Amino acid sequence: MSMHEDYNGGHLIEAAVAYFQVTGKRKLLNVAIKFADHFNERFGPGKLHWVTGHQELELALVKLYHVTQDKKYLSLAHWLLEERGHKNARGYTWADWKDTAYAQDVVPVREQKEITGHAVRAMYLYTGAADVAALTGDEGYMRAMKAVWEDVVYRNMYVTGGIGSSGNNEGFSVDYDLPNEQAYCETCASVGMVFWNQRMNLLTGNSQFIDVLERSLYNGARDGLSLSGDRFFYGNPLASDGRHYRREWFGTACCPSNIARLVASLGDYIYGYSDTGLWVNLFIGSQTTAKIGKQEIPVTMTTNYPWDGKTLLTLNPKTKAKFKVSLRIPGWLKGEAVPGDLFMFENKTPGAFTILVNGKPVPYQMENGYAAITREWKKGDVIELNFPMEVKRLTSRTEVKQNEGRVALQRGPLVYCVEGADNGGHAWNFILPDNAPFTTQHKNELLEGVTVIEFTAPTFQISPDGQSINTEARKITAIPYYAWCNRGQNEMQVWLPRSIKDVKVNR
Ligand SMILES: [Zn+2]
Repeated sequence: MSMHEDYNGGHLIEAAVAYFQVTGKRKLLNVAIKFADHFNERFGPGKLHWVTGHQELELALVKLYHVTQDKKYLSLAHWLLEERGHKNARGYTWADWKDTAYAQDVVPVREQKEITGHAVRAMYLYTGAADVAALTGDEGYMRAMKAVWEDVVYRNMYVTGGIGSSGNNEGFSVDYDLPNEQAYCETCASVGMVFWNQRMNLLTGNSQFIDVLERSLYNGARDGLSLSGDRFFYGNPLASDGRHYRREWFGTACCPSNIARLVASLGDYIYGYSDTGLWVNLFIGSQTTAKIGKQEIPVTMTTNYPWDGKTLLTLNPKTKAKFKVSLRIPGWLKGEAVPGDLFMFENKTPGAFTILVNGKPVPYQMENGYAAITREWKKGDVIELNFPMEVKRLTSRTEVKQNEGRVALQRGPLVYCVEGADNGGHAWNFILPDNAPFTTQHKNELLEGVTVIEFTAPTFQISPDGQSINTEARKITAIPYYAWCNRGQNEMQVWLPRSIKDVKVNR
């Protein structure tokens, strides 16, 4: 029980709940209930103390509570969270023999202020805490999660939305330590960022959590899966000398199944709705039915985002209905790369977006990062949203030594990289001049269709006789980070050098 048994049990519960929700069949759900009941007989108030070796059971029990409406599962989840930080693990769990920080077991959850230890464990812990807080209204959990979230996003997150810089503990090291080639950035940790940030958005209504979710989803998480869908990264570094590649499977096979279920459940992240309104969080072509007040309202979204910034949203209420539609205006469009400015756009001027309803401009209010339109909607109303998609240069806070003298490129929510496959086999042998203009081009045939960024840059090659270095202005092509390493192993980097001292010239 001390390592991954509870984690596996949690995933069993999650699988059973998902299977039940899709098929209505209870066979696996009954197995999950049997497991949860057995656990509940052994552990809990007045029974054995317990600290799960790898969090996951907590959030799974909340899901089990939602489908069964049996409060004991929610109470058990809450109790497991409360067990942490009291040295209850002593003598019999992973957290005891490894170290308590590794499993976020140093102080009770409600007193936590800093992110520590194993990144995936941390994400599952805070996702479970958010789920419990949503049902119990526990203010202590909310305060703790806000402080820990700021510690992650302000000081410990990669520009790809990946987290966990160190391979030693598969997790966090010290603030602002974000090595690129050695980045651990487990796929599961980016998936966990998607889980946790969605919960934080649901709890607060604030769009900044979706901004972070979008960054992790489109970059750090998506990178974990090959375009063919059958090769996987466990770690997702931001630079490679060509040795890193996606594998068919792993002995510890968490990442393949985690990214697979995230892709399959993508529909859960696009919209939110309540009795009074609809929230559009992500811009993904989709159809849904939103229950707003007494009406089931069919909603259709058509978009080519992130390649293009135009989105059409069609609402089809049977009868006229007044409600609020809140459209997320992404942080990247407002000139804020990430909350807390760990990374900054060189040009912070907000992009001029437009919102039309049935072809005409409409009044809207900015609320919690969303453009909110309240009006009476009728069948066939079309909301048109237009975002300018510009190439933006990013720099890091000076505390991030690994990115000193370097810039990264972003267009829409996508972080870009330069890969050898597009650039004569090299990706480390050029500088990106500060004044280099960018052009973009959508290539349907490349990497299943991507918009590339091109610029001219001084590149450096060793002369054929090996005696000197030749400098030549060449066209460099950058591709979305998630799409790299689909054409064999080769060099790649996200943070591009601005000066010669950071250039590495290989033969
Ligand atoms: Zn994993």
